[in-house]
Amino acid sequence: MSDKERGYDKYLKRKGAKLESRINEGVPFCWMCSAQSGNRAKEHIFPLWLQRELGAEKETWTPTHTSVFGDILDSRGPHPTTALLAGEICEACNGGWMNALEGRFRKVMFPRCPTISEADGRVIAHWFAKTAIVINSAQNYRLAFPREARHAAQQGVPPGVGVFLGQMPNAPHRLNFIQVQGNVFGFSRPGMGEMAQELLKRAYCCVIRIDEVVAAVVYAPPGPWAWPLVEMTQLHPWRGEEISWESLPPISDVTEPLMLYAEHPDL
Ligand SMILES: [Zn+2]
Repeated sequence: MSDKERGYDKYLKRKGAKLESRINEGVPFCWMCSAQSGNRAKEHIFPLWLQRELGAEKETWTPTHTSVFGDILDSRGPHPTTALLAGEICEACNGGWMNALEGRFRKVMFPRCPTISEADGRVIAHWFAKTAIVINSAQNYRLAFPREARHAAQQGVPPGVGVFLGQMPNAPHRLNFIQVQGNVFGFSRPGMGEMAQELLKRAYCCVIRIDEVVAAVVYAPPGPWAWPLVEMTQLHPWRGEEISWESLPPISDVTEPLMLYAEHPDL
């Protein structure tokens, strides 16, 4: 295991930015498994089949990380969707379980049945959780998922992760994502313990949009005990009833689900 510090964290420190709470782990050989050697693959954050399916290969991106005060800490690009890559994923993950998950997700999503069954819901939630973890590991943002959560994504949605769906028809781009941590509403009461404050700071949300489907992946272990404040339909953990795509609540902007509310028993 390499204990190399994430290049992005080093870069922020050089710029004099104060690093907020994050998972302090070195850069591993593979973000998604415990392999320490072998070949690395270039994992596309949005797989090529999906980019082609949506005609989104040439959409341009400027991934930007802003501080809580709105200052731009880092901005990359613009580059096309095809250049959004995660370099530190091994070939065994990329060509193995991740590839199999892509195949299952594609079958469920293109074309979609009018309703989401529990089995299909499991695939959709798994894909969005995996994609959020890859985005968080690879993009210019602090690391939010610890090793055990990342590795658990091989089997399914990791413990502590909730997945919520909404819809956003007629958006200007076909693909989008945005991530935030610590954006929790309503729990800043005085005297709150340090432990509780730390938990709130670590609640993480990644919003991913694919065409008109918007998913919010919330990581609030051991819960999930945090939810988007805006109305969305809970896909994972499964609520026991089929979900119709049409019934998904409308979302007007991908930043909308980033504000969370929390109901942690210790808070
Ligand atoms: Zn791997």
